[in-house]
Parts: sequence; structure tokens; C-alpha cells
Amino acid sequence: MSEKFDVIIVGAGPAGSAAAYSLAKMGFNVLIIERGKYPGAKNVMGGRMYAYALNRLIPEFWKEAPVERKVTREKLTFQGEKASFTLDFMDEELREPPNSFTVQRAKFDQWFANKAVEAGATLVPGIRVDDLIWENKKVVGIVAGTDKIEANVVIAADGAVSLIAEKAGLKKFDVKQFALGMKEIIELPEKTIEERFNLASGEGAAQLFVGQCTKEIPGGGFIYTNKSSLSVGIVIYIDRLIKKKIESHNIILEFNTNPEVARLIEGGKILEYSAHVIPETSRSGLFIDGLLVAGDAGGLVVNSGLTLRGMDMAIASGVAAAEAVKKAAEKNDFSKEILSYYEELLKRDFVLRDKETFKKAPEFLQNEKLYTLYPDFVCRLFHRLTLVNGPKKRVFDEILEESEGKRIQMFLDMLRGMRAL
Ligand SMILES: Cc1cc2nc3c(=O)[nH]c(=O)nc-3n(C[C@H](O)[C@H](O)[C@H](O)COP(=O)(O)OP(=O)(O)OC[C@H]3O[C@@H](n4cnc5c(N)ncnc54)[C@H](O)[C@@H]3O)c2cc1C
Repeated sequence: MSEKFDVIIVGAGPAGSAAAYSLAKMGFNVLIIERGKYPGAKNVMGGRMYAYALNRLIPEFWKEAPVERKVTREKLTFQGEKASFTLDFMDEELREPPNSFTVQRAKFDQWFANKAVEAGATLVPGIRVDDLIWENKKVVGIVAGTDKIEANVVIAADGAVSLIAEKAGLKKFDVKQFALGMKEIIELPEKTIEERFNLASGEGAAQLFVGQCTKEIPGGGFIYTNKSSLSVGIVIYIDRLIKKKIESHNIILEFNTNPEVARLIEGGKILEYSAHVIPETSRSGLFIDGLLVAGDAGGLVVNSGLTLRGMDMAIASGVAAAEAVKKAAEKNDFSKEILSYYEELLKRDFVLRDKETFKKAPEFLQNEKLYTLYPDFVCRLFHRLTLVNGPKKRVFDEILEESEGKRIQMFLDMLRGMRAL
């Protein structure tokens, strides 16, 4: 290919497609290169997408996008040694406007990339970008196999282990900055899912698990309801997993056999298994001369314990990258000085603002007691409160007795939690 493009986007995940769609609508000549056979082919993971960012770009996208279920029920399960305690939150107001949807990436990514193509972008799947072309220390294109293609700007939207950000000389992520996400898709009839999760037809649930499921390693479990399958998985800190020498696959196998989980997935057929890394901290640099980094490639994921948000952050950063390219094109100057407008937009909008708000969360969430002492405490306390086998104590006295010897620790952790989350 010898044609020169205005913009080349590497990767057709949510960040790449959001950038391509926005740029094509603005009239730019855009090329997206995706290494998978089709967008989403390599992105089997994911579960729930918060709707806000995509709704700004494509209003009421759910009327045409292949979403699975609108999430109206949120559950949080504390898993103790012998018991579990679940908070079950159902909110009519999460229905309209919808807060989040479950999605299957293989379908969703194809739809989103096609929206960019309909808007005028050129999509080339099945090709891996290997390197960048440089001219006077400025990125001026990409290398894919023997092909060299030039552009005014390259957007690296190639996911958590971004080869392109690395080739651009941006600092590599350390293993401590990654979590590992493992996920199974388990097929079940629609009606069974709705009965087991107490859902109205077409509505969905997100259930998070904290405690025994991650074997004292910081992380958590999740189940998201798709139309006729469940996304079941674990997110866990990689460096602790390595230190404890635990096989990651065994964790998900044991999660499936936990009584609470086993009842929900009973009779289901495993359709696929996938694993991928999730960045925990953002890159120190998100742009250089002629190049911007969006989505996971820039570490733009926020894990606040209760919400794991990568897809909406990727979409918003893709849109911001497009706006920065527009500004650079107006000045015909693609230097880092002009492209720095990208970072300004990310700070003004929610992406870098939320990263800042929750910057202490990754460190707080590494506290092992969150996965051992506290889930166990909640379960043991409710055991005391519900058991009738003789004279009963008042609730407050039961709390004092159960927390004996741990109160200072609990108070300190509560303070840390209030600062971090
Ligand atoms: C198990 C798991 C569960 C998750 N659950 C959620 C969730 O519930 N909600 C949520 O919001 N987020 C979730 N995330 C995070 C979310 O998946 C990511 O934040 C999101 O996919 C980031 O989008 P992206 O476009 O930046 O990158 P990606 O989705 O990773 O897309 C990158 C694309 O680039 C392509 N690519 C890579 N290298 C090259 C190359 N050299 N040349 C060409 N193409 C290339 C890839 O094939 C891919 O299509 C989860 C992650 C995991 C691992």
C-alpha cells in the first residue's frame, strides 16, 4: 500500500474504533489495522460496559448495537470460609437511561468497527503492525510485514501489552502494574438465567465476589449475565499470583465449585475460556511527535473495587484522541506540543480525572485482609446474628465480640479505604 493516510489507528478494540468513527465523521482519511481475523476475534474477554461514553458518541446505541442485557441488578458476595453473604441491589433508575450493558466482545467489536467503516474509515483485519516509521524523531507511519504506510498521526490503540507504545519509546509497564483477568463463557437457557438471578425478561445482573475465591490473593470474582450465557471469571494481581506459586487456571476451576457459584452455573456448558492482562496504572506519557496512545495501551483503566472500567475509558480516550488530531490538522502541526491537547481533554473529561480520583485504589486493593479477614468477619457476624441456640445477645454486643482484637486494624483500614475509594 503506498497511499498516505491522515491517520493510522493500530487496533480495532473499543479505543481504536471510537477514534476511527470520530475521525471518519470529521472527514479524515483513516486506516485501522487489526491483527485479529476480524475485530473482536482476539478480544473474547469483557463483560459489562458502562453506557455513558458510547451514548455520547452514538446516542441510544443499544437500539442497534449487539448488547446482551441491560444491567439492573447488582450483587456483591462476601465469601467466608464456610459461609457467604450477598448484598443484592435492584434499582428501577438503572433502567432508563441504562447505566451498563453486558456485551460479548466478538460481536460488539465487529459492530463498532463496522460503524467506523460506514462512516468512511478503511479497516484492514488480519494484519499485525510491527513497527513505526520515523522521520526527524517524529512518527510518520507504520510498518506491517513488508508494507510501509505513512500518515500524519498514528494512534496506538493496541491494548494492554502495547507493542506500538513500546516502539515509540514510552516506558514499559512493570508486572506489578498488571492484573490478570480470566474468563469462561458458560451457556445456559435464557429462562434459567432469569430465574436464577431473579431478572425480568431481557434484563441482566452483575455479581461480584470477594474473599475465598482468590485464595488470599488480592482480586475478585465476577459473573455477568449475557442473553443465553454467563461470563464467569476472576481478576487477580499477577505479581502475588507468581509469589504464591498458584496455577491461575486452578483458581477459576475452584471458583466454579464454590457452592454459591456452582448453583448459578449448574447444568451450563463451557463454550470458551480466555485470559488477558489488565493495566492498573496509566503510562507516564500518552503522546509524542506524531503519535497518541489510547485505551488499555495507555493504561486507562479504573478499578475501584466495585467497578472495573476499561471499555468506557477506552471509548472516551479514542474520542479525545480524534479531537486532538482535529486540532493538530487545523494547525497542520502534529508535534507533541499540539498533540498535548489530548491529555488536556482527558483531564477535562472523566478519563484522567477518574484515574486521579482513584489513584490510591490499586495500592489499597492489594491489602490481603480485604480478601480474608473482612469477608470472613461479615459471614461470621451474620452467623452469630441468625443462629438461635440459647440466650441471644444484642446486635451491638455481637459486633463487639466478633471484632475483638481486630478493631484498631479495622478502623485503620476503614480510614485508608475512605481515602482510596
Ligand atoms: C477478563 C477481563 C474482564 C474485563 N471486564 C471488563 C468489564 O467488565 N468492563 C470493562 O469496562 N472492562 C473490562 N475489562 C477491560 C477491557 O476489556 C479493556 O479495558 C478494553 O478492552 C480496552 O480496550 P482497548 O481498545 O484499549 O484495547 P483492546 O480491547 O485490548 O483492543 C486492542 C486491539 O488491538 C489489536 N492489536 C494488538 N496489537 C496489535 C498490532 N500490533 N497490530 C494490529 N492490531 C493489534 C488487538 O487484536 C485488539 O483488537 C476486562 C478485561 C479482562 C481481561
